[in-house]
Amino acid sequence: MAKKAEATAYVPSGVSPSRRLRRRFAIRLWSVRNSRMLEWFYERFSNVFLLLHPVWKGIGYKRVEAPVKFVEAQVKGLLFDCRMCGQCALSSTGMSCPMNCPKQLRNGPCGGVRANGHCEVEPDMPCVWVQAWQGSRNMKKGDAILNVQKPVDQSIRETSAWLRVTANAAAAKEGEGATSK
Ligand code: SF4
Repeated sequence: MAKKAEATAYVPSGVSPSRRLRRRFAIRLWSVRNSRMLEWFYERFSNVFLLLHPVWKGIGYKRVEAPVKFVEAQVKGLLFDCRMCGQCALSSTGMSCPMNCPKQLRNGPCGGVRANGHCEVEPDMPCVWVQAWQGSRNMKKGDAILNVQKPVDQSIRETSAWLRVTANAAAAKEGEGATSK
């Protein structure tokens, strides 16, 4: 049987089992409570980003990636504790980032949610999926939480979900234009 690591004087502070820095959940919980307003805002924001597609394309998506990714990481880091997975699910998860689940579950909670709605791995943290359900109930398209999410594609971690969504939407629009001609 493997020997248990010996206790030493060094106990890392401020680091959770999932390597998530422990910090207050106040802002993240605020985002869930205001999911309807954030949904409204993101809808408009993504439309503006899509309108700017010719600009991104002109400059080159590769060139704009670094600054856009920087801004995205700061904004979403503050509001959602974003881990920059590159395949944002916030619109389908009540504005509660599933990557904050220590088990990184993308399709609902595990069986270990505590009676008080907290996580079994990190007892001080409200379960992100309990929050996701509550947030989704405020949203216009909240039933998207019922859609099955694909497994995380690790090859696109640390990339901009904003640019990816925009490029995909532009390609879909161009495709529609081509078929209707
Ligand atoms: S789902 Fe991914 S991109 Fe969206 S907030 Fe969470 S880590 Fe960031």
